[in-house]
Amino acid sequence: MEQIETLVIGAGAVGLAIAATLSEYNDVIIIEQNSRFGEHTSSRNSEVVHAGIYYPTDSLKTQLCVTGKALLYKHCQRYHVPVHKIGKVLISSNEHETAKLHTLVKQAKNNGVSDLQFLSPIELANRAPQTKAVAGVWSPSTGIVDSHQLMLSYLNKLSEHNGHYVSNTQFISAQFDGLQFIVTLNCDGELFNIKCKTLINAAGLFAQACAQKIDALAPNYIPALHYCKGQYFSYQGRHPFKHLIYPMPEQHGLGIHATLDLAGQLKFGPDTEFISHLDYSPNIKAKTHFVNAIIKYWPQLDSERLQISYSGIRPKLQKYGSQDFIIQDHTTHGVAGLINLFGIESPGLTASLAIAKLVTNMLKLK
Ligand SMILES: Cc1cc2nc3c(=O)[nH]c(=O)nc-3n(C[C@H](O)[C@H](O)[C@H](O)COP(=O)(O)OP(=O)(O)OC[C@H]3O[C@@H](n4cnc5c(N)ncnc54)[C@H](O)[C@@H]3O)c2cc1C
Repeated sequence: MEQIETLVIGAGAVGLAIAATLSEYNDVIIIEQNSRFGEHTSSRNSEVVHAGIYYPTDSLKTQLCVTGKALLYKHCQRYHVPVHKIGKVLISSNEHETAKLHTLVKQAKNNGVSDLQFLSPIELANRAPQTKAVAGVWSPSTGIVDSHQLMLSYLNKLSEHNGHYVSNTQFISAQFDGLQFIVTLNCDGELFNIKCKTLINAAGLFAQACAQKIDALAPNYIPALHYCKGQYFSYQGRHPFKHLIYPMPEQHGLGIHATLDLAGQLKFGPDTEFISHLDYSPNIKAKTHFVNAIIKYWPQLDSERLQISYSGIRPKLQKYGSQDFIIQDHTTHGVAGLINLFGIESPGLTASLAIAKLVTNMLKLK
């Protein structure tokens, strides 16, 4: 039976960042069930490099977003990944929201994001033209990144260090013998066993399903999973925005905000909808909700130019309240060499390299 030091399940941005980083120290294989990497959440998101403003100060999300952002910008420069520190404007549309904006600025400062600035009315009109805002805050460290090129750069780093990426290979189960895992994989329809000392479950929306197939892991360490769909509408034609425009956050997401891709295409979203099955199909009925949300801050929206686009699904661990990433090692679940990543929703793309660094530290490789 083939033996490897580390097996990573799932070639999304997070699994690839982990595999690329661990390959500096170790033999690594990363497997992907699909024929191409990153086809789930990692290619169905806003591609925003988040500053780290919103999350509670002592959360993993804050810690990993703030350090991940710096690591990501550095990595993108080194690997020539298209990225643009385009900046974003957070806007409030009434006095109540302005109070929330002040709270967010304080929150950001506590999180180590001390570059936010309140904009004067003239600056606000320049940075967020045509918007109906009573106050605005500028976040200069927010950016946009090409998520596909980012994942490709992680793959390149992995192969530079002689790590391996195998597609069309599905994790089926793992038996732990106290020292290592005997992992069963389905490679293009054929079952195959491989031994590894370290098993990293970075399967995103399938992380809970994979965890259930690891015999030594007690079920009480596997959190519930709720699919929360986020849909986007793209805006055809000319628009006045050069920066990202974010209204005040909603309960399960950051609100229907305006983002740009690296080609300058404007899109709006994502909204939030809990669904029972993994289903990315677009829902045109959401258009009215989008129009109502957007005209609150951009009254000149031409709704005819809004076209239904793609959707992504957040791996929520609960339906209500804020939640953090869960990254478990043996100190939590008692299984030596096993790391599970659950609930890696936003800002997982931004945080991917910091998550990889945390996993490296958990494995005491550094
Ligand atoms: C609507 C939306 C908007 C977002 N916007 C942003 C943003 O602007 N900025 C940001 O930083 N973050 C954002 N995020 C979060 C970010 O996209 C995710 O945190 C990140 O992509 C998660 O990556 P991942 O590798 O954990 O998961 P995934 O990308 O889902 O990858 C998991 C991989 O595992 C594979 N897999 C699953 N099961 C198996 C198996 N049994 N065997 C082999 N392979 C398997 C899957 O096929 C998949 O390719 C957003 C998320 C959503 C949903």
